[in-house]
Amino acid sequence: MPFHLRGTVLPDGTVRDLWTLGDRITLRRPSVPADTVADGGFLMPGLVDVHTHPGSAAGDETAFDPEVFADQIAAHREAGVTALRFPGLLGEIPDELREAPGSPRMITAGRWLAWAGLSRGAAFHTVTDDLVAAAVAETKAHDGWCKIMGDWDLEAPPVPYELLRAVVDGVHAAGGRVAAHCQSAAGVLGAARAGVDSIEHGMGMPQECVALMAGHGTTYVPTLTPFARRAPLVDTGSARGRLWHEGRRTMIRRVREAYDAGVTVLAGTDSAPHGNVAAEVMHLVEAGLPPAAAVGAAGWTARAFLGLPLLTEGALADITVYDTDPREEPAVLRHPRRVMLRGRIIR
Ligand SMILES: [Zn+2]
Repeated sequence: MPFHLRGTVLPDGTVRDLWTLGDRITLRRPSVPADTVADGGFLMPGLVDVHTHPGSAAGDETAFDPEVFADQIAAHREAGVTALRFPGLLGEIPDELREAPGSPRMITAGRWLAWAGLSRGAAFHTVTDDLVAAAVAETKAHDGWCKIMGDWDLEAPPVPYELLRAVVDGVHAAGGRVAAHCQSAAGVLGAARAGVDSIEHGMGMPQECVALMAGHGTTYVPTLTPFARRAPLVDTGSARGRLWHEGRRTMIRRVREAYDAGVTVLAGTDSAPHGNVAAEVMHLVEAGLPPAAAVGAAGWTARAFLGLPLLTEGALADITVYDTDPREEPAVLRHPRRVMLRGRIIR
């Protein structure tokens, strides 16, 4: 039996009826009776987390555990997150989960690729002598994205500009997109100059990066949530700690500046707990994004970025329903009244 939903459809805000037939939405009343599962409230195309890395148990960043992966994507699903981008994954998405009825839509970028000169790094980085070839290969082997370590922490040397530029040119020529981790001023500047497709984190971002991102059409994914969680643990007594806090404050300031300059700002949570994109939306609001734009950063704007449809004829049947308008009350994202994924009722 088809499902029927009626409510204020976002982002355009018109009251409409929708029906789902399997994994597709239709705006035309089916000829057979439908089960009404939402009547009133606000209907959003399912939420999106554009920066998350499920698959490893707490404390072990080196091993990919398919069961942990399944549990963590389930946490996203329960929160109404129906699409995920993985800018770096420890292993391959298990085949049985890729298109499983309960799986959010998944877009992966392969592994975290690091250049051979990265003097500091993490166990999960894949260091390569030929970053261009590796980036193009990851792009082709996955969903059109690769993930480059533009730097690592505040002290790691960034990828040389010419090399990063060659990566961007090579990946774009192959029809792909480049996501760059940047956590130092030099790293962010290099990535913004090179015209990567998304800057992840952007800690300590120099002001000139805002215009560079706007000019290149670079998307900004600050992942404010993990930085906010870590902030109380970073010592303000050391020079390094002070640099970290200053870098975080700068990053937060740039979120609003980037938005004002026309840069697309999106919501990503980066690390556990999974299913927490609503927290990132609240951090974006605190950083100065208008509430509707912050909700769009985990909703319609993020879907457009990933090439996913909104609530239109023939679209994927991913829908979340809220009692109040999230554009005015973003915190309601924590409490979906209804979550539908692939045309199935999750809650
Ligand atoms: Zn990350």
